[in-house]
Amino acid sequence: MKYTILMSCGHQVTVDLGGKNSERERKIKYFETQGLCKECYKKEMQELKASKPFVLNASVLPYISEKNGSILLSLWFEGNTRPYKDKIKLLGGYRWREKTSATDFYSVERRPLCWNKIIEEDQLKDEIAKAISIGAESVIPEQNLFSFAHYQIALEAKKAWIETHKQSSESSDVPDFLKGHEWNHKLYGKTGSYAIYPDGEKMTLTDEQAAEVKKYLEKE
Ligand SMILES: [Zn+2]
Repeated sequence: MKYTILMSCGHQVTVDLGGKNSERERKIKYFETQGLCKECYKKEMQELKASKPFVLNASVLPYISEKNGSILLSLWFEGNTRPYKDKIKLLGGYRWREKTSATDFYSVERRPLCWNKIIEEDQLKDEIAKAISIGAESVIPEQNLFSFAHYQIALEAKKAWIETHKQSSESSDVPDFLKGHEWNHKLYGKTGSYAIYPDGEKMTLTDEQAAEVKKYLEKE
């Protein structure tokens, strides 16, 4: 049943209420004493945000970079971000999108929007310095069981990545004529006159040998 209710903020809102009579009356009473219309709710949320310090948060993601095995972190700004909007954009890489903290991963609620960015672990120091340079008051690592679990997952994934990467480089077939030699991993010349320099000495190669070297270099 539809009701037009005068919310506590002084604006009228039409709501559809179901359930028992007593239940509906209880809800109406709540709206009249504490409810806010959409606009006033939005305003209140903005004011709440503005009253909180501008900070950078960080949380480890539960997956790694497939490219280089690096642990990945989600960074996001929280609190009074509005006055810093333009500066955040200038930092590069930050986008206004859903927050990806570990807590949000396991939450069924809609993820709140915020300025966030995904970085590799060795970029963290620079990113913190950049955030502080635009006025972030502090850097807060997410610390709870979810973030701890994500960190464990990422560490395991990194270990596994290193393991497979090691195997593939060991098993990649080094051409026989290069085994046990130091060389600069460069192939010189062209068809008919290829050469390499193992241990600094020129070695001419047949086109077949050169093809082997090329294949090996591609895998590296
Ligand atoms: Zn209102």
